[in-house]
Amino acid sequence: MENRIGALERQIEKIKTELTLLGDLRPGSLSEQYNVCGNANCRCKDDPPKRHGPYYQLSFTRKARSRTKFVKKTQLSEVKKQLKNYARLRSLVDRWIELSSELCQLRLEQKE
Ligand SMILES: [Zn+2]
Repeated sequence: MENRIGALERQIEKIKTELTLLGDLRPGSLSEQYNVCGNANCRCKDDPPKRHGPYYQLSFTRKARSRTKFVKKTQLSEVKKQLKNYARLRSLVDRWIELSSELCQLRLEQKE
């Protein structure tokens, strides 16, 4: 049991260290949009239509409210990095909870 407790503690410490090194965080997901404009003679009214885009849209939910934001092509790689950091945060926290739950139980059993 001592060995397992030590191993869990070390894994949790590694997670904490990685968390402190995460960069900017941004929740949400990116999608590509193709739009039609108001000009009747535009290529987007051709058959088949050549619609405008892609435009990049970020969808996210905060405090039970869904929102979207347009992302410029030039901002795309940075936003992708922010989204990746957020996903990493969530997976690290999940793992921490999992390890910690096991650790909590072992500590209780150790005291018996
Ligand atoms: Zn058009």
